[in-house]
Amino acid sequence: MARAAAATINLNALRHNYLLAKNASPENNAVAIIKADAYGHGAIKVAHALADIADAFGVACIEEAVELRDAGITLPILLLEGFFTSDELNYISQNNLWCTVHSIDQIKIIADTQLPKPINIWLKMDSGMHRLGIQPDQYEAAFKELKSLPQVAEVVLMSHFASADELQKSSTDEQIRCFDAITSKLDAPKSLANSAGTMAHPDAIRSWQRPGIMLYGATPFSKPQKIADKLQPVMSLTSEVIAVRDLKPGDAVGYGGTWVCDKPSKVGTVAMGYADGYPRHARNGTPVLVNGKRTQIIGRVSMDMLAVDLTDLPDAGVGSQVEFWGDNLKASEVATYCDTIPYTLFTGITRRVHKIYI
Ligand SMILES: *Cc1c(COP(=O)(O)O)cnc(C)c1O
Repeated sequence: MARAAAATINLNALRHNYLLAKNASPENNAVAIIKADAYGHGAIKVAHALADIADAFGVACIEEAVELRDAGITLPILLLEGFFTSDELNYISQNNLWCTVHSIDQIKIIADTQLPKPINIWLKMDSGMHRLGIQPDQYEAAFKELKSLPQVAEVVLMSHFASADELQKSSTDEQIRCFDAITSKLDAPKSLANSAGTMAHPDAIRSWQRPGIMLYGATPFSKPQKIADKLQPVMSLTSEVIAVRDLKPGDAVGYGGTWVCDKPSKVGTVAMGYADGYPRHARNGTPVLVNGKRTQIIGRVSMDMLAVDLTDLPDAGVGSQVEFWGDNLKASEVATYCDTIPYTLFTGITRRVHKIYI
């Protein structure tokens, strides 16, 4: 009836993964990170599916929070990049958004703005990532300044890890030490762990963990890991074979003819391309499943189509089901063939791909 390219989103798997994160420390809270349209899974659907079990939601910016409030989501929503201009503060205050503060300038702006209700602040420290955050030596003063303002209700102390997914590195422990050295004497809830932190650094789970990628069932690690191995994939990206070619040695496939048959070959053309979000830089040999059997991408990915090797799949033909990642092929494995991470695979899926929620 229509082009077959589809992303099927399994909301039960999503809930399973949230509870896996939460159960890493059930007595504490977990902000479900659903920024960037829930990593490409559809923020409104994901928020509704988690609304009765999540403690709060996290998004990047106010536009993403407004979309959720307009869809009837009432849980607190944390803005991970905080506010950009002072005119956002009124909406933040009236709609129970929690706001990251990452610079001294933002504290001045809050102090200079009249608000209908005091707001909850997450005060971010730059403990070593060097992206956003208050410098450690200015942090205590910033905390005290915020606490003294009538515009501010609760303050949560937070920082973010640069390399928690790299299990052999010591920098996460150094970031934790830096954070603790400054905050141990401050009486406030704390938040450090992203997904990799929650899974690999249980000592980083404080009052609020902030799981993102693990909710969607993808591991941030390059090796097996105890909790990551229990995650269930949420998105299955699928399509169909729409044409088949029998080619002879020397025939080239696709733009630039970058793949040349070295033997008689059967090649399938599939309705999936980089305009759907499948990465153009997927290498020859990137795994794919056709009718559940593993084979590979060959030649360059085009805008709307790509080619797969069907030589060893005699039963495959026009209409055969193709899975690019999902239950039977992990997005994290595919990502390694594309020199990327599952985050960009998920967030890259475009609106042309039908989303099916189960
Ligand atoms: C995106 C983000 C997270 C979630 O990170 P994952 O690696 O996806 O778990 C947590 N905290 C902050 C500040 C973020 O920006």
